[in-house]
Amino acid sequence: MKAWLKASFIMAVASSIVLTGCGNSKPDSLSAFSGKKLKVAASFYPMVEFTKQVAGDHAEVIGLVPAGVEPHDWEPSAQEMKLIKEADVFVYNGIVEGWAEASLKSAANDKRVVVEASKGIDLLEGLEEEEEHKEEPKKDGAKVEEHHDGGQDPHVWLSPALAQQQVASIQAALEKADPAHKDDYKKNADAYIAKLKELDQSFKTDLNNPKRKEFVTQHAAFAYLAKEYGLVQVPIAGLSPEQEPTPDKMVSIIKFAKEKQVKTIFFESLVDPKVAATIAKEIGAKTEVLNPLEGLTDEEMKKNLDYVGVMKNNVAALKKALNE
Ligand SMILES: [Zn+2]
Repeated sequence: MKAWLKASFIMAVASSIVLTGCGNSKPDSLSAFSGKKLKVAASFYPMVEFTKQVAGDHAEVIGLVPAGVEPHDWEPSAQEMKLIKEADVFVYNGIVEGWAEASLKSAANDKRVVVEASKGIDLLEGLEEEEEHKEEPKKDGAKVEEHHDGGQDPHVWLSPALAQQQVASIQAALEKADPAHKDDYKKNADAYIAKLKELDQSFKTDLNNPKRKEFVTQHAAFAYLAKEYGLVQVPIAGLSPEQEPTPDKMVSIIKFAKEKQVKTIFFESLVDPKVAATIAKEIGAKTEVLNPLEGLTDEEMKKNLDYVGVMKNNVAALKKALNE
């Protein structure tokens, strides 16, 4: 299915949810700005959610990557390029959005304030890339791969501590674009950051001194979270879910999981759980969701889940898996 067709289909599904009044879920993707408020285009779910929390009633925040779509391999269509061009503020995480730089150039707008929310945060390097490179004969170091992930790990939003920095960056951008509502943006950001601090505290408490530190995930999304709380992430796929494991990698994960007596293999709601299920079956473990918050499914929206709600589920799932 063509990307734009897929996007329209998902948008149609999202709108129908709102029309039938299921919960408070709003479609993350609208087709156009009404133009009555500050116009903000944000890339994918955590960026949309953080921006809405800071903006409150003062901005119209449109998410570009439709709900339920995995953002690592998404690219904007002509319709989304129009939104990027019209936006007063453009919010993106960085790295995940390999399309951002070229899109901002092609949809030029001198007045637009751009915020790369992971900027200023010390980014981790993904180990996965090195393994992949080993497979290929290196003819010329510079031309090995033009992979948009570039080896740096983008998943900073999954650390409640680093998420606070992202919210502060978004706050600064909204204040710059719309100084008239500066006080409200500050008030909203402070309130949301307080919630993230509470979340951070619950991770510290619940993940303190577990029976084992290792957890097996579907793709390498949880390195910042693991680092923050002294855990060890063992990812099946690489920094993007597209980077599938080699047979050798599968064997080593199975061996490791057996040694550590891992009883839960985590998978994600937006990615086919086939490989995670295979590993779980091999070692006699069960599968559970650990959500990298790269987009909410319709099901999650129906349950009124948001960033904080999903992260609470994540900490509960981790606590259980690390202590069983
Ligand atoms: Zn990811």
